[in-house]
Amino acid sequence: MKADHCADLHGLRFDFHCHSRASDGSLSPSELVARAADAGVCELALTDHDTLAGQAEAAQAAASQGVRLVSGIELSVSWDNRELHMVALGFASAHPAMQQLVAQQQQARQQRAERIGAKLDRAANMTGSYQQAVLLSDQQAPGRPWFARVLVAAGKARDEQHAFNRFLKPGQSAFVATPWVAVADAVSAVRQAGGVAVLAHPLRYGFTRRKLRRFLDQFVAAGGQALEVLTPGLNAQQQALLQECLRDFPLYASGGSDFHSPQQSWLELGRIPRPGNEMPMIQALLA
Ligand code: AMP
Ligand code: MN
Ligand code: MN
Ligand code: MN
Repeated sequence: MKADHCADLHGLRFDFHCHSRASDGSLSPSELVARAADAGVCELALTDHDTLAGQAEAAQAAASQGVRLVSGIELSVSWDNRELHMVALGFASAHPAMQQLVAQQQQARQQRAERIGAKLDRAANMTGSYQQAVLLSDQQAPGRPWFARVLVAAGKARDEQHAFNRFLKPGQSAFVATPWVAVADAVSAVRQAGGVAVLAHPLRYGFTRRKLRRFLDQFVAAGGQALEVLTPGLNAQQQALLQECLRDFPLYASGGSDFHSPQQSWLELGRIPRPGNEMPMIQALLA
């Protein structure tokens, strides 16, 4: 039991947004939990993209490391013809509404992955890029970062970023638009399963202030309860906008690093801004 300091509730270190190899991260769920414990994290949610495959291993590792694990997932959702990310926390993983939602998302991901592979075979002059991504990821529905790694290994891109820019981003030759679940339906499933719906990284969508507020009106009406406010790398103006949203909407603050890999040397699990004293914290909903 490493995390003795977790008994002290004041200034407790947490991370409610990170990824393992069960989606597009590079550590196994147990490696990730061990790294979180080493980094002094007391409360952790593993939020892999549209899958719960890493949750059981993470829960076992968390129990042995003295970390409190909250169930988690990062859902790709659609709203107003855009793709947004919604983190869900503290739901019952076995609830049928959750199981059905994840199955539907996995099916969409698998069809998308097969189509990305077919497009890459043509656009990048590859053979079997879908199968290569399956092998590399050990998943039937590999996300785009796995295709980026396949492209880099094949010498078709300098690095993952270049692979995204050249082939995988919207507008590029191997991009495939995907029918993700509507945000209101995703929120409804998460709430039925007793969980909390969080808008992930609100400032990564290119929203104007007005558009963000329009989204939040609808998100709250649908049952959304939290906003990811404590994330690394925001400037003062961005933090002020999120504070304003917390003030004007009935939303709690969540936070997380969005850690994917130790190679992202500028990120660490649990290394997020401290909550302000007056901030309504998501822990109140997870108790
Ligand atoms: P997917 O879930 O298959 O759509 O892949 C999305 C993931 O790819 C994100 O969670 C990031 O980890 C990564 N990603 C998205 N856009 C980019 C980009 N432009 N450059 C590098 N990585 C990206
Ligand atoms: Mn990712
Ligand atoms: Mn995301
Ligand atoms: Mn993420």
